[in-house]
Amino acid sequence: MTYATKLLSPSEEDIAAAAEMLKNGEVVGIPTETVYGLAANALNETAVAKIFAAKGRPADNPLIVHISRFEDIYNYAEYVPENAKLLAELFWPGPMTMILRKKECIPYITSGGLDTVGLRFPANITARRIIDKCGFPLAAPSANLSGSPSPTSAVHVMDDMQGRISAVVDGGSCEVGVESTVISVSDEGKVCLLRPGFITLEELTEAVEEDNVTVAKGVTECVSDGERVLSPGMKYKHYSPKANVTVVKGDIDSFSDYIAAHGGDNCAAMVFDGDEDKCPCRCISYGSTGEQQAQRLFSLLRKADEKGIDQIYVRCPEQSGVGLAVYNRLLRAAGFEVISL
Ligand code: AMP
Ligand code: MG
Repeated sequence: MTYATKLLSPSEEDIAAAAEMLKNGEVVGIPTETVYGLAANALNETAVAKIFAAKGRPADNPLIVHISRFEDIYNYAEYVPENAKLLAELFWPGPMTMILRKKECIPYITSGGLDTVGLRFPANITARRIIDKCGFPLAAPSANLSGSPSPTSAVHVMDDMQGRISAVVDGGSCEVGVESTVISVSDEGKVCLLRPGFITLEELTEAVEEDNVTVAKGVTECVSDGERVLSPGMKYKHYSPKANVTVVKGDIDSFSDYIAAHGGDNCAAMVFDGDEDKCPCRCISYGSTGEQQAQRLFSLLRKADEKGIDQIYVRCPEQSGVGLAVYNRLLRAAGFEVISL
């Protein structure tokens, strides 16, 4: 089916129109503080099936369920351990998803066949107004075609989804720029980081004590086929532009020498602020802090495709704080191709 995808604003009238579409079981692109989401009624199997179809997403990759009040956690999670309450108090509304045992009302198509549900209470006001107006939770994965870089503006969503969904609500550029931090919280309160994001490992560890926090292998390592993964999304090649991406570890001089020796005519480099004129190729800074890099990363990867770049060399970010989230996304964009100089 082909849709005449409407571009809506965050006005009262347009939000009501978006909610109406969602009530009719349609799919709408919505802004959140992390990246744009592809939203549908999380409790409606037919509506959720349309998300998977629009994205081309594998059926075993579960969707995050978005709520607009903390109390809704009790409607969708079978059990809410003390540590989950504590983390929600600290980091909700915000860019953190908690995986808990699901209640029966969450259909298996939404949970990717798992007995758990990923819940998030986003900070973005437009997202919350839409959820409120609907009166049901919204399943919303990132609003990109499966595998491509996540969208951080309404234009990006249109680029991928025009004709595939009913509408996109334009809420401007996303402040965070990378997807939410995903953690699982066991009934005993043990926390496992499945996907790093703006809420950092350091913040989680400080909140619930180090002994209670582990990091899933998929965060910084390649999980091989057939290996059990806690977060199914981590096993797919992801966030990739058409260009080949290579992560390069080393100082700016060796980085520059490496490009001089290996870079072809059509390559580009993503570096830190102040390094832009030190590379023998088209070069752009993606910032100096993890926060800046997160905010710019996906948008720059998309821009490289627009310019027809076929090889991108990226200076490896710090692997702490928000930098860990940037590193995690880059590893997947690069298909784990990392060069250490
Ligand atoms: P996206 O919707 O594109 O932001 O991706 C959602 C991420 O959360 C994927 O990596 C999923 O595998 C993960 N996720 C969502 N729900 C669950 C769940 N119930 N169990 C494990 N991982 C989940
Ligand atoms: Mg995604």
